[in-house]
Amino acid sequence: MTTPQTGGTEYDARIRRAGRLSAQHAFAAEFLDFYKHIAAFQKTLRAKIAESSGAKSRVAPAELRSPLDLTVLLPPFRGFLSTIERHAPPSLGKAAHQMSLLPSDSWIASLEAYWEHGGKYDQQVGAFAQFLARAILQPYAEYRAALTPQAPMVMTVRVCPVCGARPLLGVLRPEGDGGKRFLLCSFCSQEWEFRRILCPTCGQEAEGKLPVYVAEQLPHIRVEACDTCKFYLRTVDLTKDGHAVPLVDDLAAIPLSLWAHEHGYSRLQPNLLGT
Ligand SMILES: [Zn+2]
Ligand SMILES: [Zn+2]
Repeated sequence: MTTPQTGGTEYDARIRRAGRLSAQHAFAAEFLDFYKHIAAFQKTLRAKIAESSGAKSRVAPAELRSPLDLTVLLPPFRGFLSTIERHAPPSLGKAAHQMSLLPSDSWIASLEAYWEHGGKYDQQVGAFAQFLARAILQPYAEYRAALTPQAPMVMTVRVCPVCGARPLLGVLRPEGDGGKRFLLCSFCSQEWEFRRILCPTCGQEAEGKLPVYVAEQLPHIRVEACDTCKFYLRTVDLTKDGHAVPLVDDLAAIPLSLWAHEHGYSRLQPNLLGT
């Protein structure tokens, strides 16, 4: 089994980064410490998914969102709920406890609903309501995406070319003297290239309408706002901090949520913890 399939090193990097950011930024420590438990669970689950799929067949399904293999997702579900119950902030822990009292039909319904719609219409659902399904299905979606043959890069599409979900983040990767922008998928964590001066929500491309804000505490994370649609994208700038792990650094960026909220900008897609 190759590393991209089990995803082990990727999860280790996320867990390490969460530990480091938590030590540096007290304001985000509670979230990041909780996230470490989620990521540790996801790491084990991802290895199980890879093992089980490897035993069945090595052929990837044609569509990323083709039906879930519940035989691999249901057995660990109760353990997942108790992990959340033990480590989550109280309201989320309570939601996990309530879910644990429901029959497995309800678990399946919740998983299948997120699998079908996740990343597409989340604003109506709310980050809190979808947290449980999103957290357990993230490694599953990442595993499927790692097996999916990548179509030729289509420039500047606003939704993920692999699964059709909206972007969670922008990522600036060093190239030449500057950075090239990619969008990171909110559902399957794949990246695709996207023009730098262009709003991924409404297509605005006038630089004067696209203000950028950076907070003192987190100089490598940009809020890329749009004055036309009033949405913003958070972009992790790897040219400023090459150790950043975008998915994790985003969870630490609480001051940016506050700033955006005060200035009337909304986030297109919330992160796993709903900020
Ligand atoms: Zn995707
Ligand atoms: Zn816009």
